[in-house]
Order: sequence, then C-alpha cells, then structure tokens
Amino acid sequence: MLHVLLPLPLSLAAASPPPPHIVVVGGGWAGYTAAEALSADPACKVTLLEASPRAAGGLAGGWRTPGGRPVEAGIHGFWREYKNTFKVIDDIGLDADEVLGPFTPSALVSKNGPVAVAPVLATAEASTTAATTPDALLELLRRASMPGADPLKQIADLLPAPLDTALLAEFSERSPLSLLDRASGVGLLACWADFRQEDADSWARYDDVSAETLFKDYGGVTDPLYDELVAPLLHVLPMGPGYDISAAAALSCFHVFALQSRGAFDVRWCRGGITEKIFRPWQERLEARGNVVLRGGARVSGIAPAGAVDGAAAVDGAAATATGCGGLLVQVLGDETPLACDAIVLAVGATSAARLCESSPLLASLPATQRFGELRGVTCVAVRVYLQPAPRTTGLLGGSHASTLLPPAVAAAMRASPVTVCGPEIGGMAELSEAGFCVYDLQRMHDEHAAGDLAVLEVDFYRAERIADVDDDHAVARLALEAAAAALGVPAATLDPSLIVDVAVVRARRAVSHFALGSAALSPGLRLGEGVYACGDWVDRTGHASWSTEKAVVTGRQAAAAVGRSLGLRAVDAQVIPAAEDTPQLAVLRKISAALRAAAPTGTALPPPAPWAALLKAVSSQR
Ligand SMILES: Cc1cc2nc3c(=O)[nH]c(=O)nc-3n(C[C@H](O)[C@H](O)[C@H](O)COP(=O)(O)OP(=O)(O)OC[C@H]3O[C@@H](n4cnc5c(N)ncnc54)[C@H](O)[C@@H]3O)c2cc1C
Repeated sequence: MLHVLLPLPLSLAAASPPPPHIVVVGGGWAGYTAAEALSADPACKVTLLEASPRAAGGLAGGWRTPGGRPVEAGIHGFWREYKNTFKVIDDIGLDADEVLGPFTPSALVSKNGPVAVAPVLATAEASTTAATTPDALLELLRRASMPGADPLKQIADLLPAPLDTALLAEFSERSPLSLLDRASGVGLLACWADFRQEDADSWARYDDVSAETLFKDYGGVTDPLYDELVAPLLHVLPMGPGYDISAAAALSCFHVFALQSRGAFDVRWCRGGITEKIFRPWQERLEARGNVVLRGGARVSGIAPAGAVDGAAAVDGAAATATGCGGLLVQVLGDETPLACDAIVLAVGATSAARLCESSPLLASLPATQRFGELRGVTCVAVRVYLQPAPRTTGLLGGSHASTLLPPAVAAAMRASPVTVCGPEIGGMAELSEAGFCVYDLQRMHDEHAAGDLAVLEVDFYRAERIADVDDDHAVARLALEAAAAALGVPAATLDPSLIVDVAVVRARRAVSHFALGSAALSPGLRLGEGVYACGDWVDRTGHASWSTEKAVVTGRQAAAAVGRSLGLRAVDAQVIPAAEDTPQLAVLRKISAALRAAAPTGTALPPPAPWAALLKAVSSQR
C-alpha cells in the first residue's frame, strides 16, 4: 500500500532554503517514471499523489478481490520497441525474463472469423539475416536459391516491415482475403512514407482526415483487407472505428506497433499483475531513496498559485496556510492544508487533466489548456471469469505456459496463441457493433493461474460504453463468454455461464486517450505553464515515436528533464532511448516522398491516392 505523506523535516525548513519540492500527480507509468527520474537527484524532494487508494500503476494497475483473486483494469502487453519501458524494468533491478513472458504471437479474428496468426518475427536468426545492407541482400539471395530454403521466409527477409509480416502471417483458410486484397495494402506506402512522426506539419495534415478515408480513399485498401486486418487492429490499438480515429493517429500507431522495424508487432505479456510484479518493487526502490513520498488515496482537487495563501484566496475552498518552498499549492481532497511546491507534473490522463482544469482557475487560465474540455476518452471494460476446470489440454503454443484447463474446444481454437485479438461486429451482438476486444487464456500467461486449479479467461472490451452501462457483473460475464465463443468459433454452450465460479469486472470509463479527428491539435506539449508540466500517452504527440505505456514512460522522463532544467537540478536521470531508426527500405521511401513533397505546390495536403483507389470506391459503392 502507498504510504501516508510525512511532513518534511523541520530542520530543513528552518535552516537553509528548502530543497526544491516537486509534486507529481498520478501514479501510473508516466507519474512513476517522472518521480523516478526527478528523485535521482538527491537535491530535490518529490511527492507523488495518486487518487486510487487501491493500487499503484494507473490504468495498468491491479489489486486483489476480498477473496484474494487478482484483478486488473485490462491485460497490458509490452511491444518489442518499448525500449524505455524495458529499461525501467531493468533499473528497478528486476529480471525482465522473470517478470515478462516470451514474445508471443497473436491470433486475429474479424467479424468473418479467424484471419491470421501474426508470427513472432524478430527471432535471433531473422534479425541477423534481414536485408539491411547490400551484402546482406546478396547473402539472402544466395541462401534463397539454395535447395531446401523456405522461399517465403527468404523473400520476407528482403522486404521492409510490415510486408514481411503480411507474407509470414499464417492466414486462415476461412479468411476471404485474396492475394490481391493483401497486395492492395501497398497503396498505403505513399502516405506512410509522407507522414513524419516528429513533424508537427505532418500531424496537422493528417489530423483532420479519418483513418477510414486514409485507408480506403488514399491507400486503395480493398474492403476485405479493411474489414479483415485494418478494422480489427484499429479497434484494439487506438481502440476505435476508422471514422472516429484520425489518420495521423492511425499512421503513427501502426508505424510504432507494427511497421517501424522487423518484429515490432511482437508482444511480451506480464507473468502476473503489473502492480505486484513491477510497481510494488518500483515503489520500494523509490521509497528507499529517502527523498520521495508516495501517497495513495490522495485525489488532487485543485492547484493554485502560492499567492492564494494570503487571506481568502484558498484552493478548492480549503483554508490554505502552507509555508515553505514553492510558488504553487496543491490541494488534496480531504486535506486541511495544501502542499506547497516549486513545480507540478500532471501525469493524470487527458480527461482527468480536463477535470482538474475545471476546478483550478490557475490551470484553466493557461493558454495550453484552453481546449482540454474537448479531449475525449475511450471506455474499456475488463472481465475476468474463473471457470470450472475441464480436463487439461497440453502442448499449446505461445505464452509462458503450454497447458490450460479451459474446455478442450476453446483450447483447440486458441492453440496457436493464448491471445486472440478481435475486431468489431463479431457474432452479430449489438453490444459489439463498435467494440473490439481481446480474449486471453490467463493460465498460459500468468504463473499464479498456471499453478491454479481453475480455468481463467479474460475478455477486455475497448470502446465499450454499452457494456460498461450493464450494472450486473454476472450479466457482463455472460456477455463476455458469448463474445469469446463467437470469436473463437465454438458453440456458445462450450462456454456456458453455468461453468462460472467467480467474476471480476473493471469498468474504466473514458479512461484511455481517444485519438479522434483533431486530437493532435488538442494535445499539449510537456510544459503547460510556469511550473506546471504534463506527461502521459496523450502529451507531445509530435515527439518521440511511441504509444501507450512507452509514450507514458518517455514523456515522464522528458517532463522530468524539463522540470530539472527550470529548477537547476543537475542529477535528474531523464535520458530517453530514441525510437527505432527507419529501416533502410523506409529511409529510401522517405527520401523519394520528401522530394515529391518539395516539388508539389505549397499547401498540398496528402499524397495523391493510390491509382486503383477511385475504382475500388466506385465498385464498393455500387455493391
Ligand atoms: C483495457 C486496457 C488495455 C490496455 N492495453 C495496453 C497494452 O496492451 N499496452 C500498452 O502499452 N498500453 C495499454 N493500455 C494503455 C495504457 O494503460 C496507458 O497508455 C498507460 O497506462 C498510460 O499511463 P499514464 O501513467 O499516462 O496514465 P494512467 O495509467 O491513466 O494513470 C493516471 C493516474 O492518475 C490518477 N489520477 C487521475 N486524476 C487524479 C487526481 N485528480 N489526483 C490524483 N491522481 C489522479 C489515476 O488514478 C491514475 O492512476 C491499455 C489500457 C486499457 C484501459
């Protein structure tokens, strides 16, 4: 549990000027990273305030039910390019292989049934043989011509990501995707090469175009390819339908999660709850430093300038009598006295930041926050269902453990991977018309469940307002089993609700950043105003090419660096590992694209559509 805030030693306050005090608001990846980076400098004090009394970790956090069963606000994966996040895990002193399972493929399901199993690409062999230099290219051509060579694998090594994924993925026999459908994705290359993650103009150009328009009207992606591959990925990565996700977000997200390097789509999953496995030891490490206080159950209700201590101007109605350092006051709900500090780092998520602005005139007055009220959040519902055990099925692939107590038909449907990624409109269920979801066999992923005597199925729904509105947890669990059965193509009776032993449902309303059209224009930089900074996955979209957990970690470090600079702190540990460089193939495409853009008339928006896009659109509208 988080500790109660202790007052700073009086001697410090009396003798010399107090050390700079920084308040970090929010105890997720972003807040913990900022606190870690700042408190590396012993010359400052850091207080982290987290609203939840239950657990550290923010949206990635978890806790135990009164019956002792672990619960989380959704299962969280760690993609191959999460280099800064992996460094955090190392720095805590944890062995990544003990905390995380192996890189695991995911099975993809659309409304039409199974689509493909994405391969784990960046095996040691693949990464050494990828054609990144002319010599490597020649070597690959030589090998490809050798007797017994796997031609697909050899050709894939020649291609830039993600074309290699498209070739190596095991497409289901039931998938309606033809080779032509798969090939139509090539039409996206022009926009992909034109969009620059770290260029504000690029974001502005693609921010007001929908992902659906990008893929269909510009990319010339066929309807089957859109329905089978693009829609499911949009519904589980940026978590929304193509019409409600910006083209900029889609390009950035697909680039980071799938396209930027060979094997970028490979995912590791935590071997248990992230709070217990990562945040608890992290908390202990921070507390051992002596200059960090972590406080749970501390909801910040207002932020004000220190001048507000004089007389009537109080923070959120509380009489403010703080003394000591700082030009800012932070009011915690229920506390009599606000905390004085020199800088504040908001690490609270977009919709929470907007709420905080409403109760803090200081925040509301900053130019950077003027449009925070327009920021939107996606609602997620995480459903964990404990089921009576069936006879054990063994020899399953992917994940940390190879066996399960799920019904044999379910085990067989999930044989290739314990993770099934599902698009919208599955099973014709009304609640799923816009919701994507993932089905996880937790016995194959979590050590604790592997050793348990119950089957454990987790179904996490994204863009799930309709499901969140169902109050009865058992009704939600029934719906989850029905959705899982439909996605896995097993009879509903295979996952009959009578098998349910226990249920845990977590509703995260408007909690995940929604990268809707125009959202990049709303996203602030790291510095909101004098002494006030922000970090999180919704901040500084044009910065480091990363998403979700990795973006939270990166911006946490960057915000800490900015605070450190302004307060003259010299030992803040805020180094950021840069995002992957463009592959040689992408670098060539980018050069061509830059030359075309330079030659195009000023004000040209997007590159011209793929030549076949208009034809496909005409055919599609006639259907
Ligand atoms: C179901 C689901 C699945 C996901 N899957 C993945 C995945 O597989 N991989 C991945 O990388 N990411 C995933 N994400 C996204 C990931 O969880 C977020 O990107 C990440 O948690 C953002 O971290 P953060 O620290 O910026 O914000 P958060 O995790 O949102 O933390 C913000 C914290 O601020 C606290 N707070 C808010 N207001 C106040 C206040 N006034 N006072 C004090 N504290 C306050 C909140 O309680 C919260 O703990 C998923 C999210 C969900 C919901």
